[in-house]
Amino acid sequence: MDAQRSICANCGYVYDPAAGDPMNSIPPGICFNELPDEWVCPMCYATMEQFDLLD
Ligand SMILES: [Zn+2]
Repeated sequence: MDAQRSICANCGYVYDPAAGDPMNSIPPGICFNELPDEWVCPMCYATMEQFDLLD
């Protein structure tokens, strides 16, 4: 199981698979690489390419 968190390089928002992303209707348990291609940072709308692995 890959529960690695990812951080937005633009604003510092952390995507945690254990929490999901309620603001984008992403339920808990979805890994970062399982997010839809159109997913963007819920805080600053940065694209997924602007995220780095946190752990
Ligand atoms: Zn961001």
